[in-house]
This record gives sequence, structure tokens and C-alpha cells, in this order.
Amino acid sequence: MKILHPKTLDATLDAIKAGATPVAGGTALQMQWSQGAERPEIMVNIGPLLPCGISHADDGNITIGAATTLDAIRQGRVPLLSDAARDVAAPNIRRLATLGGTIGFGAGCLLPALLVLDAKVTTTQGTLPLCDYLTAPTGLILSITITPAQRHFWCKTGLRAAFTPAIIVSAGALDISDGVIVKSRLAVGGGVVTPQRLNTVEHWLVGQCPDDLDPAALCERIDQNVQAPSCAFRTATYRRRVAALALAEGILHGTAKATKRKPPARPLPHPDVKTPPVLTTLSRNAGGDRWHTRPDMPAKVRGTMPYLTDHREDGMLIARILRAAHPHAKIRSIDTTAAQALPGVHAVITHKDVRGLNRFGILMQDQPAFCSDKVRYIGDTVAAVAAETAAIAEAALALIKVDYEPLALVTDPEAALMDDAPKVHSDSNLINDIKLERGDVDAAFATAAHVVEDTYVTPRQMHGFMETEGGWAAPDKDGLLVCVGGQHGARDRLQLARILDIPQEKLRIITSPIGGGFGGKDELTVQPALALLAQKTGRKVRLQLSRAESVAAGTKRNPMRIRMRTACDAKGKLVAQQVDLISDCGAYASLSPSVTETAMEHCAGPYEIPNIRTRGRTVYTNNGAGGAFRGFGSNQMTFAVECQLDRLAQKVGQDPAKIRRLNMRMPGTPGYLGQTIAPTERLHEMLDAAQASDIWNDFDVEPDEIAGVGMALMMQGTGLGTIPDDTAHFALRLQDGKIEALCGLDEMGQGLIVSLHAAVSDKIGCDRADIRAVFGDTGRAPDSGSTTAARGGYVVWRGVENTAPTLATKIITAASDRLGLSPERLKIVPGGVADITANAPIPLVSFSELGDLEAVETFFEFPKSDYTKSNARFIFTYAVTLARVAVNRINGTVRIARLDLHTAAGPVIDMAAYLGQMEGALVQGAGMTLTEDAMMQDGQMVTKNFDTYTMPSIRDTPSEIVVTAHESLDAGDPFGPRGVGELGITGVTAAIANAVADAVGQWPTVTPFAPQDILTMMTKGART
Ligand SMILES: Cc1cc2nc3c(=O)[nH]c(=O)nc-3n(C[C@H](O)[C@H](O)[C@H](O)COP(=O)(O)OP(=O)(O)OC[C@H]3O[C@@H](n4cnc5c(N)ncnc54)[C@H](O)[C@@H]3O)c2cc1C
Repeated sequence: MKILHPKTLDATLDAIKAGATPVAGGTALQMQWSQGAERPEIMVNIGPLLPCGISHADDGNITIGAATTLDAIRQGRVPLLSDAARDVAAPNIRRLATLGGTIGFGAGCLLPALLVLDAKVTTTQGTLPLCDYLTAPTGLILSITITPAQRHFWCKTGLRAAFTPAIIVSAGALDISDGVIVKSRLAVGGGVVTPQRLNTVEHWLVGQCPDDLDPAALCERIDQNVQAPSCAFRTATYRRRVAALALAEGILHGTAKATKRKPPARPLPHPDVKTPPVLTTLSRNAGGDRWHTRPDMPAKVRGTMPYLTDHREDGMLIARILRAAHPHAKIRSIDTTAAQALPGVHAVITHKDVRGLNRFGILMQDQPAFCSDKVRYIGDTVAAVAAETAAIAEAALALIKVDYEPLALVTDPEAALMDDAPKVHSDSNLINDIKLERGDVDAAFATAAHVVEDTYVTPRQMHGFMETEGGWAAPDKDGLLVCVGGQHGARDRLQLARILDIPQEKLRIITSPIGGGFGGKDELTVQPALALLAQKTGRKVRLQLSRAESVAAGTKRNPMRIRMRTACDAKGKLVAQQVDLISDCGAYASLSPSVTETAMEHCAGPYEIPNIRTRGRTVYTNNGAGGAFRGFGSNQMTFAVECQLDRLAQKVGQDPAKIRRLNMRMPGTPGYLGQTIAPTERLHEMLDAAQASDIWNDFDVEPDEIAGVGMALMMQGTGLGTIPDDTAHFALRLQDGKIEALCGLDEMGQGLIVSLHAAVSDKIGCDRADIRAVFGDTGRAPDSGSTTAARGGYVVWRGVENTAPTLATKIITAASDRLGLSPERLKIVPGGVADITANAPIPLVSFSELGDLEAVETFFEFPKSDYTKSNARFIFTYAVTLARVAVNRINGTVRIARLDLHTAAGPVIDMAAYLGQMEGALVQGAGMTLTEDAMMQDGQMVTKNFDTYTMPSIRDTPSEIVVTAHESLDAGDPFGPRGVGELGITGVTAAIANAVADAVGQWPTVTPFAPQDILTMMTKGART
């Protein structure tokens, strides 16, 4: 690629004539390249030669040089254009992007604004109206002249609040004289919408008095005149509707017709609660001396902490993986000859290089490490290459010839259950079918006063961790070292040893630290390819998936369809519930069957329902790969349960708190499956707190928004349940002057290190800085089980409880021997051991001076119920989520104004870590609710990267998140602090759904809530 910098405009024009592409700010090109557009061979930098600046003429016209940046326009007080420029891209783009480039780009957000300002374009070939230039662009744009009107309006709707491709942009300009429209200009454009003036409506408006216009008729007229296409993300109907609502709003602005729509009234919880509960507010301000900076935080914030994927050494080979070319196909042959012959390639491996079991999977080994006969999803691994550079490895991938025979696809889980459906594996597509029936369900429904029924649909959410899957592997003196972020090193070792056919002792697996997991690194990811390549080449090999590859190959939250029918009597008492859940597993089981099982265990939420009939099925399809994700099925089920509760409350005429209080489980009541449940629940107290909250009060929203408040209760099982092995080893020792904890769990960003520091220092009195955590290394730490199912916090706490007193005694004894003082006179203080009678905690002997002390080890089982008929949890955590939302009347988007979370999970071990878990979970849950869906069509990803997979950004995050914890435990409760990794996410979808229903009168049932559905609900109005 060559960039020319001519000195004159003539030389520039000559270069363009010769085929060079003109570039001003270069930002549109940057965007097009990121989407795969071809890069021009020769570019010519035109920016410095073009006019720049804004000049105002006496006739009111304004001329803007083509090289003027959007940032300068934003600051330039140009009518309409300055406001509009604020909504284009991000500040760093606006500082480069030019007005000429925006027009040259041809699809920019500013075009509708320029069209309604009657822009004239002056080019090197003359002056012409913008519409004409857009139809036949010729010549270099030198400047633009615009004619402002009396009144302007503008609206951009993107995929979400932050900058993203525009769904549609609309702009208007009106001149009004004596209350009558004398000139009107309306335009739409942006993204895939061709920029266009709405001439027919413009003409019709002239002579009309805005006060006399009928809003619905006006909308309809505009709607019919907008030309807009559908795309994967929004329909043409939605685009037209948004444009119509926005333009009608602008035209009617200031008239009596532009009234705010009020949400339909419904009973609200009564705030008078007799005994306000004692809750701890979690925040830096309220925390006082309970607030500690996480030890891993400064380096993470500075970006200086190396992850396993950051590891670099001279001579490391680079690996790349060849993924399936089809979502479902037979492999006839794989030819790696040409790839192997490429200079710089050190190894090309396929299924033929797998000496051991060519399959893996946490629950059932159904996923090939390297596909041999068939591919089942687009992320399947077919071959891998290790080469001297990434470019050589990628070139080698392109030389691998795979002969496929495409097979019929199955992408709908319900269709996959048909007898004649294509089979993803050899047998049935049904993996598990969990049924439970209790009581006389049919009779209860037959006599119930109210019944509500609907299907709740949840998305294929992506974990979206910052660090994509990757790491490195190397032969070492004992065998093989594999360093890849994971959530259970010992289990990764077991699975890898089977694949490599070597004893587990020959493998050392390092899994921490990890740049985020959320369940997405629970299953093996790139370990088999890295290990085999390191083994074959005898060299260190590294690999990190690009984001696009991670999107295609990584496991996702299982999309679910939950049909739920719930009945209550005339007073709101629940009498029966029927649930039918179908979960899309994708091509391989991983943990999907357990996710379904967990969802089913949360079928009734924290309520008592005497008659139940439930069924949950997990089904193979060619839709990617499903698996573990924070919430693990309970959040999907809670969404359905809690919306059903609100809908019944509506039917009974009760407020949402009252119906919940009426049906809430009592402490000590058996769990949903009939199992015993650990004491300490605090649901009643939290409902009191929720009821007393000021979140129910009226609050201000923007003129184009409708306010709503919703609540959701939830209980969330922790630990793996009764059936799987759920044990943990843990050890504590004094080593090199530090109290060292050896634990096989993983620090993924969730705050395990700080929780450990808090637990140890609280228990034995040392400083947090005296503690060293050794996590995620099978060579140094014992097997503590998986870092999943919110079990980490309990494992750390129990481990410390079991070992710290003995280690403390050993330390005191060692100090007593060294100092010649009786143990009774000594105590552990920050830095070492001090005299108990001393005024200041100054150590008489430091931990370093005491030398190393042998580890105190413990082995324990995560607390379980005695229920064995199926998998059941024993320890639950409880919470109430409250959401305050503002629903936009123009585009149907939902803004979360505030989220409150009341939790009951025992004592807070570390406040910052706990709060971080809750805030992160709430926002992650909000993403699943409002924007996140890894869309697939015909087995291919539609959302291939983060530009269209819209995770919440800071602009989508509620400005207020209030987390309060009910820390007390029942007298004699032996189980201590509960794990809270999942608690925050469980109820957030339901709370937001109920808040949206409060605002618009209808319950959204498909997540993420499509703005077009919400607009439709608004037109329906009444609650159902
Ligand atoms: C992260 C990101 C976000 C973005 N978000 C938005 C958005 O929200 N809305 C939006 O509208 N756009 C967006 N864009 C696209 C783009 O940045 C803008 O449209 C921008 O205004 C283009 O200006 P530029 O000067 O950088 O154009 P360039 O990239 O330099 O050029 C764009 C095109 O115009 C031609 N051209 C440039 N100058 C002239 C001229 N004087 N005469 C004739 N042809 C010319 C070029 O040959 C090229 O074909 C985004 C881009 C990025 C990278």
C-alpha cells in the first residue's frame, strides 16, 4: 500500500485519475477494512489541500470546508449539524473524520441532517445539490453550503446507546409562519438506509398547522414514505416506525399533541414496613475500614499484570487452528502435505496425531480434540499448525486441503427432536429429559381462579471475557507444561492426559491468572492443540484466539425456550405450575445437560407451589457449542417465574410484593426437589427492604421516555450438587516469610485472592500483605475442585477455617521456641509474632525469621443434602433485585436508570470483591436482557465480533447501582459465607422485564428485548 502526499490540488486530481483513492480522515476506510473490504493499493492524502473552517454569510447560509473535522463542526455552533455531529462515532474518530469524507463515504449519519439543511456541494467540477452529488458523485468535494431553517430536529437510533452502526437517522427542518408550516424538509438515512428526502410528506405538511395534526395519522403517513431495508439486526418495519415516531415528535414538538404517555397505573408495594432490616451498604464510602484495595487491582488497572497469553520468549512457535468450513459435514479426507512443506512450518497436526482418546467433555466425552470423520459446528477443530511466525502459520492453514461432504443442518432444537431430523451425533439429538410431577396438577389448574401462560425465550449470550482463549505449552523435564486460562486445572489435566495418552503426573497445568471466564473457560479450549503441538515440535508454542475465532469456537449460554403455565387462587396463592423447557445444547454436551438440570431445580423460584409438572430437555443442534455461564440456567428460569408472578399479581389486583410474600417459601421448607436446604434464608427480611425502598417513588425521565419499576426475588443454588464429586483440598503453610495458601482454584478477576487474604488475616491476625496465594497450578497447588457454581468463596473460607488455627499454633510455638517466651504471651500480628501485652503490635520476631513451617492440609466436601434421586443443591443464596427503567417511546430501547440488589449470602468476606461480583453480574445480566445475543443463521455466526454483538458499555450501565447485604446467619449455622459469583445475575432479567411491563403495560418475553417488540407493546397498551 502506498500513500501519496501531493503538493497541489492538480497533482491530487491527477493521482485520483490514475486510480489512487482519496483519503481525508481515513476513518470510514478504517471501518470498511475492519469489515473485510479490500484495501486500495494507492491512496492520496487530500486533507491538507482542502478548505477547512466554517464561515457564515449575511444571507444566513453557512459554508463549511470539506476538510473541517466533525469535532470542529460539533463545537462550531452550526444549526442542527453541531448537535448531529455529537452523535457520530466516538471523540477520537470525530477528531479525524471530515465533512467531505462523510459525504464521500455516502452512508454517514450526518447525511439526513445535511439533506434537510438543503446542502449544496462544491466540488472540483462545480456546485450541485447534495441529493444530486449522492446519486452521481464526481470530483473532489471542496466545501458545503447549507441553509438553516427556523426549527430543526434530529434523532439517531443505533444498536445501543453508545456509538454503533446507525439503525436509522432522521432529521427535520421546519419554517413556520403564523402557526402554519411554510417550508418543511424531512430526511432519513444512516447505516443501511439510503439517504433520502421525504418529499411527499414535506409537500403535504406545507400549509398545515402543527396543532391540528393527528399524531397517529402523521406517523402513518411518514412511515409509508420511508424506504428502509431489513438487516440481521433490525427489520424494515422497525426502521420506518422509529423514523416516523421521531419525525412526528419533531413536527409536533411544542404542540398540545406532544403529550407524554403515562404508564398504566398498577398497585405498588406499600412502603410501610414495621421492622426495617439491618443491611450493610456495600460501597467504598460506606465501607470504612472494611474497604480494601484488591492486591491484584493496581497492576490490572495499569495493564501491567501479565496473563498467560502475554507470555513471550525468544524462539516460541506460533500456533493457529483450522476450524470447520461447514457447520455440519462429513470429512472425506484431510491433506496437509503442502502445509507441512511450507518453509517455517514446524508441525501440522490432525486427528492422526492424537495417540489417546480423541474426545473430551466435562460430563460426557463427545467432543473431538481434532475432527476425523465429521464436523458438527463452525468452531470445530480440524487441524493445527505451529510455525515460526503467525503469517506462516496462517498461510499453512490455507494450504490444508479438507474434502467435505456437507450434511443437512439442524438448527432448531424443537425440529431436532423430530424422528427424521438430521442427527448431530450418531443417535438421538436428545441428551437429557428431566421430568418431575408432584400433586394433582390438572385438578389444580381446572379449579384455579387465574392462570397465566407464556413462552420465555433467552439468548445465546457470549461470555465476552477480555482475554480470549489462549496461552502456551512447552515440553519440560517432567513431561509437558500447559499454561492456558481455565477453571479447573486438575480436570484439564485429566482430560488432556487422556487425549495425549500420558500419565497425569507428566502434565503440569497452569490456569491462573485469567482475564475473565464466567464459565466459558470451564471446558477445554485450546489446550489439546497447544499440548500436541508442543509435544510434536519439542518447542514452546503459543496461541491466542482472535476475537472472531473466539466468537465462532467458544461455548455460549444455552438459548432456552421455557413454556410456563402458572395458576393461583382468587387471593393470589399459587396452586399449580407447568414448565416445559427446551435448551439448545449446540454440537457438544460440555455442561449443557447440567445447566438444564439447574434450571429445572429453580422452576418455582423461592416460592411454594403444591402441584407441579415440569420437563426439561437438552438438545443437540449445529448451533455452536453451549455450556456453562454464570447463573447456569437459574437466571433464565427466574426470568420466567418472576414475570409469571407479576402477571398473576396483575390479575388478582395485588402489588408485586404482596403476592410474593403470600407465596414465599418459609425457612426450613424442603427445596424444589424435596431436598433439605441449609438454614439462613432472609427472604422475608429482604422483601421488607425492597418494599421500603425509595426506588418505587416517582422519578424524572427524559420527555421521550416512560418510567417503570420492577422487582424479582430469587434463590440460587451453589456448589455442584449431590451427584458430582464436590470435594476440595486446601493447604496453608509458612514459606519464605509469607503465609502461603495452596489452592487449586483460579483467580479469574472475581476476587478470590482478596477473599483469601481477608479470610486468613481475619482468622489469624496477620496483615493481608503477609499472605501469598498460590492458585491455579497443578504443579504447586492441590486439587480444590472447579472454580464454578459460586463454590470458590466457600472453599477458600472453609479451607482457611480448617487450617488457619493449626498453622497459627505452629507459628506461635515456633516463635515461643525462638524467643523463649511462653506461647500464652504471644500473638500473631502484622509482619510476625508480638508480645500479647505490648501496647503496639510490633513483632518480636518476623515471619521470615521463623523459617518455613510445614503445610497444614485439609480435605473436605462442599456441603450437600442427603437427596440422591437426582442432583440437588443444599446451600442456596437469596436476593431481591429492583430495577428502575426508562423506556424510549421513539425507538423502544430500554435505559436502566437504577438497579438495587439486596442479598443474603452470609458474612461479606471482602467488601470490594463482593461488590465487584454483584455489579459485574448485574451489568452482565442487563446485557443478556437488553442487547446481547450471539446470533446464528444456518449454523453460521451472524454476530461475528463485538461490533455487532452489543455488550453493555459504560453508557449502558445504570448510573446508580445500590448493593446491600444481609450478613447475619442463623444461630449455629456452620456453613459460613456463601459463594456469590452468580447471585447478582439471577434476578436481573426478571426485574427489568417487570419494570418494562410497568412502563409499557406488556411483558416482554424474548430476551434480549427487541426494541421493535417494545414499540409494538406500547401500541397495545393494556396489561396482559
Ligand atoms: C469506530 C468508527 C465509528 C464510526 N461511527 C460512525 C457513525 O456513528 N456514523 C457515521 O456516519 N460514520 C461513522 N463512521 C464512519 C466514518 O468515520 C465517518 O463517516 C467519517 O465522517 C468519514 O470521514 P473521513 O474524513 O474519515 O473519511 P475517509 O475515510 O477519509 O473517506 C471516506 C470516503 O470518502 C471519500 N472522500 C474523502 N474525502 C473526500 C472529498 N473531499 N471528496 C470526495 N470524496 C472524499 C474517500 O475516498 C472515501 O471513499 C465510523 C468509523 C469508525 C472507524
